[in-house]
Amino acid sequence: MTASLLAGAAAGIAAAVQAGTATAVALVAESFRRGREVNAGRDGLNAFVSSDEDLSRALAASAPCGGPLAGVPVAIKDNIATTYLTTSCGSKMLQGYVSPFEATAARKLREAGAVLIGKTTMDEFGMGSSTEHCAFGSAKNPIDPTRVPGGSSGGSAVAVAAGICPIALGSETGGSVRQPAAFCGIVGVKPTYGRVSRFGLVAFASSLDHVGVFGRTVDDAALALEVIAGPDTAHDATSAVRESPALRHVARDLEAMIIGLPREYFPASLSAEMRDRCDRAIAALRARGAEIRHVSLPNTALAIPAYYIIAPAECAANLARFDGVRYGVRIDGDGLVGMYEATRSGGFGAEVTRRILLGTYVLSAGYYDAYYRKAMQVRERIRQDFAAVFASGVHALFTPTTPTPAFRFGERSDPYAMYLSDIFTVTANLAELPAMSLPIGRVTGLPVGGQVIAPKFAEADMFRVAYALEAELGQAAHR
Ligand code: GLN
Repeated sequence: MTASLLAGAAAGIAAAVQAGTATAVALVAESFRRGREVNAGRDGLNAFVSSDEDLSRALAASAPCGGPLAGVPVAIKDNIATTYLTTSCGSKMLQGYVSPFEATAARKLREAGAVLIGKTTMDEFGMGSSTEHCAFGSAKNPIDPTRVPGGSSGGSAVAVAAGICPIALGSETGGSVRQPAAFCGIVGVKPTYGRVSRFGLVAFASSLDHVGVFGRTVDDAALALEVIAGPDTAHDATSAVRESPALRHVARDLEAMIIGLPREYFPASLSAEMRDRCDRAIAALRARGAEIRHVSLPNTALAIPAYYIIAPAECAANLARFDGVRYGVRIDGDGLVGMYEATRSGGFGAEVTRRILLGTYVLSAGYYDAYYRKAMQVRERIRQDFAAVFASGVHALFTPTTPTPAFRFGERSDPYAMYLSDIFTVTANLAELPAMSLPIGRVTGLPVGGQVIAPKFAEADMFRVAYALEAELGQAAHR
């Protein structure tokens, strides 16, 4: 009974717990049973950095059973602060760190009745696209464990895709929810910047960072986003003063909607199979009544270079706080400066170090104008590209989420090759737009995602497109 419940929709679990036909405690036991089945051992998926069944059982026993997520087991990325378990950010720098306060998104899940079952594996401080940069070992793709699950929120995607929990939180700076969702065959959403409070999300690049959600279905993701969205201006100065949008009762057809296909997202280099899965999704959008229009976002090619200046610049500033004094590890050295050096060299991994060096360089007096200011100007052009397309009457855009399905471990050891896996996702972070990925089929047996991008705060339209696409594709989304 509980096992089949756990495999179903989050709304169904909550309804059963509200009605008293299931309990949060039994669901925790089931979730941990499933976790042990897929997660442990050398060939295990390694979705979690920390979890504790006794703790989760105690949380379940006191969880409110009237809320919209009553008894729903949830996993949270290890860079979102919880007062239970670690908030290590996948880094040796914060190994074993337990936060004294709780992130707003985590608090809202808890107050809605959800039960935390673990903190998930991630690329160190969110920097990466595969979870290979986690100091505590990579998570593995449940569809093919020789491949990466995507990143940086890979562990959260794995927990949902492997059936350990129906909903998980991740974070996005340039695609870290949508890309692993695509690689693992589930739904991943990045809301509009400001829609969900960033309070308690450990900062990577503050102007690009978002809390996002994973669900097995569009409806599970909608339910989770409805719960965590909303104003939090007391804690996050960039929080939007907008009530949480109603996402679950939008129309299921696309009559009178115009969906744009930006040609820069369908390059000639896209494989014939990827193109075919996209074509099938586009036909499904048409079948539901949408008008399809070809559009152009001419500055798209500049997005990766601009992102890899702006994100490292902000990361260099944000990560300056990890100095061995206030948080996490301290490694002794010669005097105060020696201690800083030893702590920062020993605490951060190679990718984080690379970004701090790059960020410090582009912000330095002689290079600020040449690199950082230029990148900010490019960011504005990317914003204007989207604004012009939406002003022309287009309601939403459809694109592939990634150029390829999940790659093998070690295959993208060249950092630049890794960076290119975000080519279709970083634009929405730069332009602060809501965007989501949902399954549109398989290529060589591996899941691939389609991306829907909407204007700022038009999450309801974005979900309308996603619900319609999911319904029209049906089982084809997983073939
Ligand atoms: N993969 C991108 C990066 O490495 C995006 C990461 C993210 O969204 N957190 O920066």
